[in-house]
Amino acid sequence: MKNVISLNVSSVFRLLGPSWRGNGMVEKYPWWNEEQRKLADEVEEFAKEKAPRAAEATWKKEFPWDIYNEMGGRGWFGTIIPEEYGGLGPRYGVTACCIVAELTTPLGSVCVAFSTTMFGGTHQIAHFGNEEQKERWLPGIAKGKLMGAITLTEPFVGSDAGGVETTARREGDEYVILGKKRFISNTGLADIYMVYARTSDDPKDIASRRHLSAFIVEKGTPGFSVEKINELSGWDGVRNGYLNFDEVRVPAENRLGEEGDGWNIMISGLNFERTLGAAGIVGTFRDLITYAVFHSQR
Ligand SMILES: Cc1cc2nc3c(=O)[nH]c(=O)nc-3n(C[C@H](O)[C@H](O)[C@H](O)COP(=O)(O)OP(=O)(O)OC[C@H]3O[C@@H](n4cnc5c(N)ncnc54)[C@H](O)[C@@H]3O)c2cc1C
Repeated sequence: MKNVISLNVSSVFRLLGPSWRGNGMVEKYPWWNEEQRKLADEVEEFAKEKAPRAAEATWKKEFPWDIYNEMGGRGWFGTIIPEEYGGLGPRYGVTACCIVAELTTPLGSVCVAFSTTMFGGTHQIAHFGNEEQKERWLPGIAKGKLMGAITLTEPFVGSDAGGVETTARREGDEYVILGKKRFISNTGLADIYMVYARTSDDPKDIASRRHLSAFIVEKGTPGFSVEKINELSGWDGVRNGYLNFDEVRVPAENRLGEEGDGWNIMISGLNFERTLGAAGIVGTFRDLITYAVFHSQR
């Protein structure tokens, strides 16, 4: 019964099979250019073909790495990565939105993994990382070999993002991170985690939003573990959970920007996240309308 209740829009479309969306019923958005429409067509075809496999993975409670890896081979993770780091070049966010809008309904879990990687590390490294950091992580992301995650929300921190309680204490060439994060998408799957932590309790720093810093923490770092996986309602197959940072030692070279830049980096990432999130919602609603028309004409 629980599984039936948790069926969401994506599941309905999967049950319908590929025919509901095909046959030229759906026009691409008029503001997309030729290149974006071509890419969207490619993603749509791909998503249609892979939908049964994604559904199978959901029921088996596994992540469809085969689909994710194939997307990596097609270069889609490179949409916001400059060419010199293995990306597709100066296309930036709109192209990533095209991909998300096409993936969201038929391949929901893969779509969340894709978009979370884009706003959970990729955007921040591409915009705020130094040369060494870009060379270290961006080529792997572009090939789909590194998955990202964004870790902002905590047990007692949500909408009030500036209230982050996780701390990063400087010790020589390292930071020691202590705290917990919750509701984190790609938990356990991701290779790199974009972590926001408090580096100052000085009221002046807090007032000027200079109290947070941004770090990349890699999977497997001692003290960094998955505490719990959440059961989600309506986000079929999406991996989400709690993370524990128990005195996690991270080299200072994993800090993005300067100490105190965390808030600015966070807001920049959230702006892009909201844009991609909106693309996903637009895609889902377009598909709902398409289905309603299809249903009324049967
Ligand atoms: C499916 C899913 C995936 C997620 N993935 C991630 C992730 O990958 N990384 C991550 O960091 N987080 C993630 N989150 C967490 C998400 O960002 C938080 O849930 C969100 O920031 C809200 O925080 P909260 O749940 O603590 O709610 P609260 O902040 O406790 O808010 C509860 C309610 O109170 C309202 N409210 C809060 N403050 C005010 C105020 N000042 N005035 C009026 N109303 C207010 C809110 O609008 C809301 O309705 C995810 C959440 C979900 C559901």
